[in-house]
Amino acid sequence: MRTITGDIVTPGGVLSNSALTVTDDGEIGEVGSTRPFSSHSEDIDARGFLVLPGFIDLHVHGGGGADFMHGTAEAVRQVARTHARFGTTGLLATTLTASQEATDRAITAARDVQLAGSGEGESRIFGIHLEGPYICPARRGAQPAQWVRDPDPAELAHWIQLSEDTIKQITLAPERGGAEEVIRLARRNGVTVSVGHTDATAAQTEKAVGWGATQATHVFNAMRGLHHREPGTVGACLSRPEIVCEVIADGVHLDPLIVRMTVAAKGVAGIVLITDAIEGTAMPEREYLLGGQTVIVQNGTAAFADGTLAGSVLTMDRAFANVRRFAGVSIEAAARLSSGNAARQLGLSGKFGELTAGAAGDIVILHPESGEVYWTLVGGRVVYRR
Ligand SMILES: [Zn+2]
Repeated sequence: MRTITGDIVTPGGVLSNSALTVTDDGEIGEVGSTRPFSSHSEDIDARGFLVLPGFIDLHVHGGGGADFMHGTAEAVRQVARTHARFGTTGLLATTLTASQEATDRAITAARDVQLAGSGEGESRIFGIHLEGPYICPARRGAQPAQWVRDPDPAELAHWIQLSEDTIKQITLAPERGGAEEVIRLARRNGVTVSVGHTDATAAQTEKAVGWGATQATHVFNAMRGLHHREPGTVGACLSRPEIVCEVIADGVHLDPLIVRMTVAAKGVAGIVLITDAIEGTAMPEREYLLGGQTVIVQNGTAAFADGTLAGSVLTMDRAFANVRRFAGVSIEAAARLSSGNAARQLGLSGKFGELTAGAAGDIVILHPESGEVYWTLVGGRVVYRR
């Protein structure tokens, strides 16, 4: 058993200078015990530090020089290792619009690593997020145009089978022909449908909600914007409670004021923070490839030469700090935005995303002022120590 002493962030509030225990099975035992800090070698003295549920990132493409589209186990593990250093304890391996063969390879690699379990220094793989290929060409952002296509139920059925049910999310444009069938197929198989890279009107988006869409991919980015007489995809996503909005809180994709406005519109339960990080994350600023196109990483942004944003180099620790600054939310609200809500979207509430007895010992410990990650634990094991 391991005892962690610090400021424990629970769904009900922060328990200052308190302790939680992690059992030998890697689960959280007691929370908020006053058990005095002991010098047992397994124990973590994090007094003065924030002890939070590990971050969960539903939308991440890469990091540390690797991308899930590389389609190898080593690439998957390298991304998982990289983001663990920034407090992520679980993620969805996110694909890019590509050929069926390239997508097959990415699915196979992520599936194999997920089924084998996370290794030393790695976050968990909670599943796969297919971003595309059934998107709107005019709203494709950094997704390669040549592989964009209409929703294809046979192809999605093939991928679900190949993935052995590890596909957990798909981003698609609901206005495309065949979208209803694909959305219903996804839902029947436990796959969250997220509207994104879409030119859907508000009415088309609401129709998709009726078919089973429950999420919006990086709200505002790569979707039909808000107009007071045509509320667009954005208007429907902000107003419909069924939709949970992904937010990229890097201060670039969305003005801080828009982050604040989105939190006000959706409430804390209606948002999940994501990174949309690419392989240049936690790497030197230089040029990288994304879907065969050159991405320039400089000044903390990733963009094509024409200025189109191409993912981000954001990490979850900074998203957590930024949302507190941008929207003025409490620490426990920021914990839901960065962990609890994503766990709920994955159907893993109670097991992940919160520090409660019986949940997995997936924990991040942050410096209270700098916000830097000092420890990351997955299943009670330290996977990163600053
Ligand atoms: Zn995207």
